[in-house]
Amino acid sequence: MRHVSVGALALVLMAISACSGSDDSSGKKPEDKLVGAIGVQLSETALFQGPKRTLMIGGQAGEGVPLVQGRDALFRAYYSTNADYDGEAVLATLDLLDGQPPIEKALILGPGSSDADLGSTINFEIPGSRIKETFQYSLSMVQFDNGRGDNQFARFAQQVAVAGKPNKLRILIVPYAYNADGSGRVPDTSEEQVERYRERFRSLYPVSDVEVSVHAPVPWSSPIQPNGYGWQEVGLNLFGIRGSEGIPPDTYLYGVFNPTASIGQFCGGGCLLGVTLLNDNPPDEGSVSLRLALGVGFPQVALNTAAHEIGHAHGRRHANCGPGLEPQSIDSQYPHANGRIGDWGYDITNGDLHDPAVATDIMSYCDNQFISGYNYTSLFARGQNVNSPKIIGAPADYWIVASDGLGSTRWQKTRFAGIPSGQEVEVTVDTSSASGLVSKAWYTPYDHLDGGWLFLPASVGEITRIEHAAGGARQVLRR
Ligand SMILES: [Zn+2]
Repeated sequence: MRHVSVGALALVLMAISACSGSDDSSGKKPEDKLVGAIGVQLSETALFQGPKRTLMIGGQAGEGVPLVQGRDALFRAYYSTNADYDGEAVLATLDLLDGQPPIEKALILGPGSSDADLGSTINFEIPGSRIKETFQYSLSMVQFDNGRGDNQFARFAQQVAVAGKPNKLRILIVPYAYNADGSGRVPDTSEEQVERYRERFRSLYPVSDVEVSVHAPVPWSSPIQPNGYGWQEVGLNLFGIRGSEGIPPDTYLYGVFNPTASIGQFCGGGCLLGVTLLNDNPPDEGSVSLRLALGVGFPQVALNTAAHEIGHAHGRRHANCGPGLEPQSIDSQYPHANGRIGDWGYDITNGDLHDPAVATDIMSYCDNQFISGYNYTSLFARGQNVNSPKIIGAPADYWIVASDGLGSTRWQKTRFAGIPSGQEVEVTVDTSSASGLVSKAWYTPYDHLDGGWLFLPASVGEITRIEHAAGGARQVLRR
């Protein structure tokens, strides 16, 4: 298949829009009528929100991973052509029957489609907002009649249930500032890196959206070693954070640190990249308090380590591929050899296609990682049970003012729906345009520090100074 040049495309579309909706009674000539393109057979349709989900194959309903409301998707139409196809441009139209305009593509078809070649299928990018409770569509590949008649095999319409309700995976990255070597080194949690984490989770996890927020860095002065020494203490600290700071139950905590300057220094003699308690009991939800994981923040491995470790916090065991897997950590139900993904996958965040002959599951220790339909479906079930649907809706912006009582105050804007955790308090705020404003806020103290987090509606404006007595003593914080 090749795409028609821009000039030809414009001509085709102009011609089509000029006669769109015509029929024999409208006075149009028969050759202006649009009919199913002769010699074209629509063979399959699939929706990719990650692993392939066949919608239709050979005219029958297909199967595969569950669809998720609100999640971006790629619709692929597979076809074949025979000698009756005239080689001229075809107008492919995907109508989602949702009151929005159909998506149209004018193109010249090739001999047929294959999974391996994105360019061989007719592809429509569907924004998540158009994936609702039912996915219904009408697909047609038409040409002007020119007296050749109609071909019903160039059209298909279908309704498919969307099993997944809207849901958001929420990750709170907790960076540890590593002081055991005196460096105070903090892993990268810049806005850009946080967005990279968010996109990696969004590509692999069957959720409508992902929110990644960042905790104020946690100072850490005990050694953390490649062999696992010292990790448990960090895990216990992270465990404490949920309770002491009132972290919402659907938020996964991810503790991250760099105990050396580079991954080469840390992993020269073999290393642990992450540690998580397998959170598989009760099986459908896991334990709230174990919705946490640890990993290193070296840029070469940070994103996949996070996605893998949070997979354990979703109760997923290892896909059997790669060295050093503890036998009891391997998922005996995993259906594909060598940790492979089993079917074609498509990354909605970057457009990459993943070949089941090459790609391995994120829960393996092997390269070319994506997500198998098997683990995607398991993560789907957990996400549907855990990821609170109420957080979809109208999110609001908040200031988080994190003060550690040691003179360090961090100011950060965040966005979420629902009420912030913590005790409701009144604070006095000066902003760049007003002073002495009284605002509602929510305060959560640290357990081992004389400070805490204050949430304020960001609508107060650009804060310059804040005064509150939420922690007991009156505190003045300047920004
Ligand atoms: Zn693992």
